[in-house]
Amino acid sequence: MTEDDRLRHLEKRRGDGLLRTLSPLAERYPGSAVRGGTAFADFSSNDYLGLSRHPDVVKAAAEALSRHGVGAGASRLMTGDYELHHALEEAVAAFKGKEAALVFNSGYQANVGILSALAGRGDAVFADRLSHASLLDGAALSRAALFRFRHNDPEHLDALLARHRGAAGDAVVVTESVFSMDGDRAPLRELVAVARRHGASVLVDEAHATGVFGRNGGGLAVEEGVAEGIDFVMGTFSKALGGFGAYLAASRVTVDYLVNASRGFVYSTALPPAVVAADLAAVEVCGREETRRRAGELLRNADGFREALRNAGLDARGESQIVPVIVGESGEASRLSGALAEAGILVLPVRPPTVPEGSARLRFSLCAAHGEDTLRRAAEALRGLR
Ligand SMILES: *Cc1c(COP(=O)(O)O)cnc(C)c1O
Repeated sequence: MTEDDRLRHLEKRRGDGLLRTLSPLAERYPGSAVRGGTAFADFSSNDYLGLSRHPDVVKAAAEALSRHGVGAGASRLMTGDYELHHALEEAVAAFKGKEAALVFNSGYQANVGILSALAGRGDAVFADRLSHASLLDGAALSRAALFRFRHNDPEHLDALLARHRGAAGDAVVVTESVFSMDGDRAPLRELVAVARRHGASVLVDEAHATGVFGRNGGGLAVEEGVAEGIDFVMGTFSKALGGFGAYLAASRVTVDYLVNASRGFVYSTALPPAVVAADLAAVEVCGREETRRRAGELLRNADGFREALRNAGLDARGESQIVPVIVGESGEASRLSGALAEAGILVLPVRPPTVPEGSARLRFSLCAAHGEDTLRRAAEALRGLR
Protein backbone atom coordinates (compact mmCIF):
# COMPACT_ATOMS: atom_id res chain seq x y z
CA MET A 1 0.00 0.00 0.00
CA THR A 2 1.42 3.37 -1.04
CA GLU A 3 0.88 6.86 0.42
CA ASP A 4 -1.45 7.53 -2.56
CA ASP A 5 -3.54 4.47 -1.65
CA ARG A 6 -3.81 5.77 1.89
CA LEU A 7 -4.95 9.18 0.66
CA ARG A 8 -7.60 7.57 -1.56
CA HIS A 9 -8.80 5.46 1.39
CA LEU A 10 -9.29 8.65 3.43
CA GLU A 11 -11.06 10.45 0.58
CA LYS A 12 -13.44 7.55 0.05
CA ARG A 13 -14.22 7.47 3.77
CA ARG A 14 -14.85 11.22 3.77
CA GLY A 15 -17.14 10.89 0.72
CA ASP A 16 -19.13 8.11 2.46
CA GLY A 17 -19.49 10.18 5.64
CA LEU A 18 -17.37 7.59 7.48
CA LEU A 19 -14.12 9.47 8.07
CA ARG A 20 -12.87 9.00 11.63
CA THR A 21 -11.14 11.97 13.22
CA LEU A 22 -9.92 12.81 16.71
CA SER A 23 -11.38 15.57 18.87
CA PRO A 24 -9.55 16.07 22.16
CA LEU A 25 -11.12 16.92 25.50
CA ALA A 26 -9.57 19.36 27.93
CA GLU A 27 -11.04 17.52 30.93
CA ARG A 28 -13.57 14.80 31.72
CA TYR A 29 -15.59 14.21 34.86
CA PRO A 30 -18.20 11.52 35.54
CA GLY A 31 -21.12 12.58 33.32
CA SER A 32 -19.52 15.72 31.88
CA ALA A 33 -16.63 16.82 29.72
CA VAL A 34 -14.95 20.03 28.56
CA ARG A 35 -14.06 20.34 24.88
CA GLY A 36 -12.88 23.48 23.12
CA GLY A 37 -13.70 25.61 26.18
CA THR A 38 -17.31 24.34 26.31
CA ALA A 39 -18.82 22.06 28.96
CA PHE A 40 -20.97 19.16 27.75
CA ALA A 41 -23.14 16.51 29.35
CA ASP A 42 -21.06 13.47 28.36
CA PHE A 43 -22.94 10.43 27.02
CA SER A 44 -20.02 8.76 25.29
CA SER A 45 -17.70 7.66 28.12
CA ASN A 46 -17.82 4.24 29.76
CA ASP A 47 -16.92 5.46 33.27
CA TYR A 48 -20.39 4.25 34.30
CA LEU A 49 -19.93 4.56 38.06
CA GLY A 50 -17.56 7.54 38.10
CA LEU A 51 -14.82 5.40 39.66
CA SER A 52 -12.11 7.20 37.62
CA ARG A 53 -12.56 10.04 40.12
CA HIS A 54 -13.48 8.05 43.25
CA PRO A 55 -11.37 9.45 46.12
CA ASP A 56 -10.24 5.99 47.32
CA VAL A 57 -9.24 4.95 43.80
CA VAL A 58 -7.35 8.18 43.13
CA LYS A 59 -5.62 7.93 46.53
CA ALA A 60 -4.47 4.35 45.87
CA ALA A 61 -3.02 5.41 42.53
CA ALA A 62 -1.30 8.47 44.01
CA GLU A 63 0.29 6.42 46.81
CA ALA A 64 1.53 3.75 44.42
CA LEU A 65 2.84 6.45 42.09
CA SER A 66 4.91 8.09 44.80
CA ARG A 67 6.17 4.72 46.04
CA HIS A 68 6.90 3.02 42.69
CA GLY A 69 7.27 5.82 40.14
CA VAL A 70 5.63 5.68 36.74
CA GLY A 71 6.59 2.62 34.69
CA ALA A 72 6.81 -1.07 35.65
CA GLY A 73 10.23 -1.32 33.99
CA ALA A 74 9.84 -4.73 32.33
CA SER A 75 7.40 -7.45 31.35
CA ARG A 76 5.77 -9.59 34.05
CA LEU A 77 8.11 -12.51 33.32
CA MET A 78 11.13 -10.27 33.89
CA THR A 79 11.13 -7.72 36.72
CA GLY A 80 7.82 -5.97 35.96
CA ASP A 81 5.94 -8.44 38.18
CA TYR A 82 4.93 -6.60 41.37
CA GLU A 83 3.11 -7.93 44.43
CA LEU A 84 0.36 -5.50 43.39
CA HIS A 85 -0.31 -7.46 40.17
CA HIS A 86 -0.81 -10.64 42.22
CA ALA A 87 -3.06 -8.90 44.74
CA LEU A 88 -5.19 -7.68 41.84
CA GLU A 89 -5.36 -11.16 40.31
CA GLU A 90 -6.47 -12.69 43.60
CA ALA A 91 -9.14 -10.02 44.01
CA VAL A 92 -10.40 -10.58 40.46
CA ALA A 93 -10.57 -14.36 40.84
CA ALA A 94 -12.73 -13.93 43.96
CA PHE A 95 -14.82 -11.19 42.33
CA LYS A 96 -15.51 -13.43 39.33
CA GLY A 97 -15.98 -16.66 41.22
CA LYS A 98 -13.11 -18.44 39.42
CA GLU A 99 -10.00 -20.27 40.59
CA ALA A 100 -7.43 -17.84 39.19
CA ALA A 101 -7.02 -14.69 37.12
CA LEU A 102 -4.44 -13.05 34.86
CA VAL A 103 -4.07 -9.33 34.23
CA PHE A 104 -3.55 -8.07 30.66
CA ASN A 105 -2.56 -4.60 29.50
CA SER A 106 -5.85 -3.80 27.76
CA GLY A 107 -9.05 -5.50 26.72
CA TYR A 108 -8.01 -5.50 23.11
CA GLN A 109 -4.67 -7.09 23.95
CA ALA A 110 -6.36 -9.60 26.26
CA ASN A 111 -8.80 -10.88 23.67
CA VAL A 112 -6.17 -11.16 20.98
CA GLY A 113 -3.70 -12.74 23.41
CA ILE A 114 -6.20 -15.18 24.93
CA LEU A 115 -7.93 -16.53 21.84
CA SER A 116 -4.76 -16.80 19.76
CA ALA A 117 -3.24 -18.93 22.55
CA LEU A 118 -6.31 -21.02 23.44
CA ALA A 119 -7.24 -22.02 19.90
CA GLY A 120 -5.10 -23.13 16.99
CA ARG A 121 -5.18 -24.61 13.52
CA GLY A 122 -7.70 -27.47 13.46
CA ASP A 123 -9.82 -25.95 16.25
CA ALA A 124 -13.00 -23.92 15.75
CA VAL A 125 -14.28 -20.67 17.25
CA PHE A 126 -18.03 -20.00 17.25
CA ALA A 127 -18.59 -16.29 17.87
CA ASP A 128 -21.71 -14.16 18.16
CA ARG A 129 -21.91 -12.14 14.95
CA LEU A 130 -21.75 -8.83 16.87
CA SER A 131 -18.70 -9.77 18.95
CA HIS A 132 -16.15 -7.00 19.58
CA ALA A 133 -13.39 -6.56 16.98
CA SER A 134 -10.77 -7.74 19.50
CA LEU A 135 -12.49 -11.13 19.83
CA LEU A 136 -12.71 -11.56 16.07
CA ASP A 137 -9.09 -10.45 15.65
CA GLY A 138 -8.02 -12.97 18.31
CA ALA A 139 -9.93 -15.71 16.51
CA ALA A 140 -8.33 -14.75 13.17
CA LEU A 141 -4.83 -14.76 14.66
CA SER A 142 -5.43 -18.20 16.20
CA ARG A 143 -5.89 -19.70 12.70
CA ALA A 144 -8.84 -21.71 14.01
CA ALA A 145 -11.89 -21.94 11.73
CA LEU A 146 -14.29 -19.11 12.59
CA PHE A 147 -18.07 -19.52 12.51
CA ARG A 148 -20.32 -16.58 13.41
CA PHE A 149 -23.74 -17.33 14.86
CA ARG A 150 -26.71 -14.96 14.63
CA HIS A 151 -26.77 -12.39 17.38
CA ASN A 152 -28.03 -13.83 20.69
CA ASP A 153 -29.35 -16.92 18.90
CA PRO A 154 -28.53 -20.16 20.78
CA GLU A 155 -30.45 -22.22 18.18
CA HIS A 156 -28.24 -20.99 15.39
CA LEU A 157 -25.19 -21.73 17.56
CA ASP A 158 -26.59 -25.22 18.11
CA ALA A 159 -26.99 -25.74 14.36
CA LEU A 160 -23.46 -24.49 13.59
CA LEU A 161 -21.96 -26.70 16.29
CA ALA A 162 -23.90 -29.72 15.03
CA ARG A 163 -22.57 -29.08 11.54
CA HIS A 164 -18.95 -28.11 12.20
CA ARG A 165 -17.99 -29.30 15.69
CA GLY A 166 -17.12 -32.81 14.56
CA ALA A 167 -14.34 -31.81 12.20
CA ALA A 168 -12.73 -29.53 14.78
CA GLY A 169 -10.25 -30.51 17.46
CA ASP A 170 -11.39 -28.18 20.20
CA ALA A 171 -14.26 -25.69 20.01
CA VAL A 172 -14.69 -22.36 21.81
CA VAL A 173 -17.96 -20.42 21.94
CA VAL A 174 -17.41 -16.67 22.21
CA THR A 175 -19.80 -13.88 23.18
CA GLU A 176 -20.03 -10.59 25.03
CA SER A 177 -22.35 -10.56 28.05
CA VAL A 178 -23.58 -6.97 27.65
CA PHE A 179 -23.02 -5.97 24.02
CA SER A 180 -20.98 -2.82 23.62
CA MET A 181 -22.79 -1.28 20.65
CA ASP A 182 -26.29 -2.69 21.27
CA GLY A 183 -26.52 -2.63 25.06
CA ASP A 184 -28.46 -5.91 25.08
CA ARG A 185 -27.60 -9.03 27.10
CA ALA A 186 -26.53 -12.42 25.87
CA PRO A 187 -28.70 -15.42 26.88
CA LEU A 188 -25.75 -16.85 28.83
CA ARG A 189 -27.57 -19.77 30.40
CA GLU A 190 -28.82 -21.06 27.03
CA LEU A 191 -25.48 -20.49 25.28
CA VAL A 192 -23.64 -22.37 28.01
CA ALA A 193 -26.13 -25.26 27.80
CA VAL A 194 -25.70 -25.54 24.02
CA ALA A 195 -21.89 -25.36 24.28
CA ARG A 196 -21.89 -28.08 26.97
CA ARG A 197 -24.03 -30.34 24.85
CA HIS A 198 -21.45 -30.16 22.07
CA GLY A 199 -18.41 -30.39 24.34
CA ALA A 200 -17.34 -26.83 23.54
CA SER A 201 -15.81 -24.40 26.04
CA VAL A 202 -17.12 -20.85 26.53
CA LEU A 203 -15.42 -17.45 26.60
CA VAL A 204 -17.47 -14.45 27.74
CA ASP A 205 -16.34 -10.83 27.41
CA GLU A 206 -17.80 -8.87 30.34
CA ALA A 207 -16.28 -5.49 29.39
CA HIS A 208 -19.56 -3.60 29.84
CA ALA A 209 -21.15 -5.76 32.52
CA THR A 210 -18.32 -5.78 35.04
CA GLY A 211 -19.00 -3.31 37.83
CA VAL A 212 -22.60 -2.73 36.80
CA PHE A 213 -24.19 -6.18 37.04
CA GLY A 214 -23.85 -8.96 39.60
CA ARG A 215 -23.24 -9.25 43.30
CA ASN A 216 -20.23 -7.02 44.11
CA GLY A 217 -20.30 -5.91 40.46
CA GLY A 218 -18.88 -9.26 39.36
CA GLY A 219 -20.72 -9.12 36.02
CA LEU A 220 -23.62 -10.78 34.26
CA ALA A 221 -22.28 -14.34 34.60
CA VAL A 222 -22.28 -13.85 38.39
CA GLU A 223 -25.71 -12.20 38.33
CA GLU A 224 -27.20 -15.08 36.35
CA GLY A 225 -25.40 -17.73 38.39
CA VAL A 226 -23.58 -19.22 35.40
CA ALA A 227 -19.96 -18.25 36.21
CA GLU A 228 -19.28 -21.91 37.05
CA GLY A 229 -20.27 -23.03 33.54
CA ILE A 230 -18.12 -20.43 31.76
CA ASP A 231 -14.54 -21.55 31.28
CA PHE A 232 -13.04 -18.16 30.41
CA VAL A 233 -14.44 -14.92 31.83
CA MET A 234 -12.73 -11.87 30.38
CA GLY A 235 -13.30 -8.21 31.24
CA THR A 236 -11.66 -4.82 31.46
CA PHE A 237 -10.77 -2.36 34.20
CA SER A 238 -11.23 0.47 31.69
CA LYS A 239 -15.02 0.84 31.76
CA ALA A 240 -17.13 0.78 34.95
CA LEU A 241 -13.99 0.24 37.03
CA GLY A 242 -12.69 3.61 35.84
CA GLY A 243 -9.07 2.50 35.35
CA PHE A 244 -7.11 0.66 32.72
CA GLY A 245 -6.09 -2.89 31.83
CA ALA A 246 -8.01 -6.15 31.57
CA TYR A 247 -8.21 -9.65 33.00
CA LEU A 248 -9.08 -13.24 32.34
CA ALA A 249 -10.60 -15.28 35.17
CA ALA A 250 -10.30 -19.02 34.57
CA SER A 251 -8.82 -22.23 35.96
CA ARG A 252 -5.31 -22.22 37.45
CA VAL A 253 -4.12 -24.46 34.60
CA THR A 254 -5.44 -22.05 31.95
CA VAL A 255 -3.81 -19.07 33.67
CA ASP A 256 -0.45 -20.88 34.02
CA TYR A 257 -0.70 -21.90 30.37
CA LEU A 258 -1.33 -18.32 29.23
CA VAL A 259 1.64 -17.06 31.27
CA ASN A 260 3.67 -19.35 29.03
CA ALA A 261 1.81 -19.13 25.73
CA SER A 262 -0.01 -15.82 25.35
CA ARG A 263 2.23 -13.56 23.29
CA GLY A 264 0.30 -10.42 24.28
CA PHE A 265 1.12 -11.27 27.90
CA VAL A 266 4.70 -12.43 27.42
CA TYR A 267 5.99 -9.76 25.05
CA SER A 268 4.71 -6.57 26.63
CA THR A 269 5.79 -4.41 29.58
CA ALA A 270 3.64 -4.91 32.68
CA LEU A 271 0.91 -2.41 33.60
CA PRO A 272 2.31 0.44 35.73
CA PRO A 273 1.99 -0.21 39.51
CA ALA A 274 -0.12 2.94 40.01
CA VAL A 275 -2.63 1.71 37.42
CA VAL A 276 -2.75 -1.71 39.10
CA ALA A 277 -3.26 -0.08 42.52
CA ALA A 278 -6.17 1.97 41.12
CA ASP A 279 -7.73 -1.15 39.56
CA LEU A 280 -7.41 -3.03 42.85
CA ALA A 281 -9.04 -0.19 44.79
CA ALA A 282 -11.82 0.01 42.18
CA VAL A 283 -12.63 -3.71 42.55
CA GLU A 284 -13.00 -3.13 46.30
CA VAL A 285 -15.09 0.05 45.92
CA CYS A 286 -17.25 -1.76 43.39
CA GLY A 287 -18.46 -4.27 45.99
CA ARG A 288 -19.54 -1.63 48.52
CA GLU A 289 -23.20 -1.21 49.28
CA GLU A 290 -23.11 2.46 48.22
CA THR A 291 -21.70 1.50 44.80
CA ARG A 292 -24.23 -1.31 44.33
CA ARG A 293 -27.03 1.15 45.13
CA ARG A 294 -25.69 3.58 42.50
CA ALA A 295 -25.42 0.80 39.91
CA GLY A 296 -29.06 -0.16 40.55
CA GLU A 297 -30.12 3.46 40.16
CA LEU A 298 -28.11 3.73 36.93
CA LEU A 299 -29.97 0.76 35.42
CA ARG A 300 -33.34 2.17 36.47
CA ASN A 301 -32.44 5.58 34.99
CA ALA A 302 -31.45 3.89 31.74
CA ASP A 303 -34.82 2.09 31.59
CA GLY A 304 -36.61 5.41 32.12
CA PHE A 305 -34.51 7.15 29.47
CA ARG A 306 -35.14 4.36 26.95
CA GLU A 307 -38.85 4.52 27.68
CA ALA A 308 -38.94 8.32 27.17
CA LEU A 309 -37.18 7.98 23.80
CA ARG A 310 -39.48 5.17 22.69
CA ASN A 311 -42.53 7.18 23.65
CA ALA A 312 -41.18 9.90 21.37
CA GLY A 313 -41.13 7.39 18.50
CA LEU A 314 -37.37 6.80 18.55
CA ASP A 315 -35.78 3.38 18.02
CA ALA A 316 -34.07 3.15 21.43
CA ARG A 317 -32.67 -0.27 22.31
CA GLY A 318 -30.65 -2.13 24.92
CA GLU A 319 -31.19 -3.76 28.31
CA SER A 320 -28.43 -2.08 30.27
CA GLN A 321 -26.82 1.30 30.93
CA ILE A 322 -26.09 1.46 27.16
CA VAL A 323 -28.95 2.99 25.15
CA PRO A 324 -28.32 2.97 21.39
CA VAL A 325 -30.73 4.95 19.24
CA ILE A 326 -30.72 3.48 15.74
CA VAL A 327 -31.03 6.10 12.99
CA GLY A 328 -29.89 4.10 9.93
CA GLU A 329 -27.77 6.31 7.69
CA SER A 330 -24.30 7.44 8.76
CA GLY A 331 -24.92 11.01 7.59
CA GLU A 332 -28.02 11.25 9.77
CA ALA A 333 -26.17 9.93 12.81
CA SER A 334 -23.45 12.54 12.28
CA ARG A 335 -26.00 15.34 11.79
CA LEU A 336 -27.83 14.42 15.02
CA SER A 337 -24.58 14.19 16.95
CA GLY A 338 -23.55 17.65 15.71
CA ALA A 339 -26.92 19.18 16.56
CA LEU A 340 -26.89 17.62 20.05
CA ALA A 341 -23.41 19.06 20.61
CA GLU A 342 -24.88 22.49 19.83
CA ALA A 343 -27.32 21.78 22.66
CA GLY A 344 -24.48 20.88 25.04
CA ILE A 345 -24.87 17.10 24.74
CA LEU A 346 -21.89 14.99 23.76
CA VAL A 347 -22.95 11.73 22.14
CA LEU A 348 -20.83 10.43 19.31
CA PRO A 349 -22.20 8.65 16.25
CA VAL A 350 -21.31 4.98 15.80
CA ARG A 351 -21.12 4.09 12.13
CA PRO A 352 -20.08 1.16 9.93
CA PRO A 353 -17.81 -0.76 10.00
CA THR A 354 -18.09 -0.63 13.82
CA VAL A 355 -21.79 -1.55 13.41
CA PRO A 356 -23.55 -3.27 10.47
CA GLU A 357 -24.34 -1.26 7.32
CA GLY A 358 -27.59 0.73 7.62
CA SER A 359 -27.62 0.63 11.44
CA ALA A 360 -25.68 3.81 12.27
CA ARG A 361 -26.65 5.02 15.69
CA LEU A 362 -26.17 7.39 18.57
CA ARG A 363 -24.89 5.33 21.45
CA PHE A 364 -25.86 6.87 24.78
CA SER A 365 -23.66 5.57 27.61
CA LEU A 366 -25.47 6.50 30.79
CA CYS A 367 -23.58 6.93 34.01
CA ALA A 368 -24.54 7.20 37.65
CA ALA A 369 -23.62 10.91 37.68
CA HIS A 370 -26.33 11.84 35.14
CA GLY A 371 -29.18 13.46 37.03
CA GLU A 372 -32.83 13.28 36.01
CA ASP A 373 -32.61 16.83 34.63
CA THR A 374 -29.74 15.92 32.31
CA LEU A 375 -31.54 12.83 31.06
CA ARG A 376 -34.75 14.77 30.44
CA ARG A 377 -32.81 17.49 28.61
CA ALA A 378 -31.07 14.92 26.39
CA ALA A 379 -34.34 13.13 25.55
CA GLU A 380 -36.08 16.41 24.73
CA ALA A 381 -33.21 17.66 22.59
CA LEU A 382 -33.18 14.44 20.56
CA ARG A 383 -36.97 14.43 20.16
CA GLY A 384 -36.79 18.00 18.82
CA LEU A 385 -34.28 16.98 16.15
CA ARG A 386 -35.99 13.96 14.60
C1 LIG B 1 -13.87 -1.87 25.20
C2 LIG B 1 -13.97 -3.30 24.88
C3 LIG B 1 -12.82 -4.09 24.76
C4 LIG B 1 -11.44 -3.50 24.78
O1 LIG B 1 -11.07 -3.12 26.06
P1 LIG B 1 -9.94 -2.02 26.26
O2 LIG B 1 -9.50 -2.20 27.66
O3 LIG B 1 -10.58 -0.71 25.99
O4 LIG B 1 -8.86 -2.33 25.26
C5 LIG B 1 -12.98 -5.44 24.56
N1 LIG B 1 -14.20 -6.00 24.46
C6 LIG B 1 -15.32 -5.25 24.53
C7 LIG B 1 -16.65 -5.92 24.40
C8 LIG B 1 -15.24 -3.89 24.73
O5 LIG B 1 -16.35 -3.15 24.78
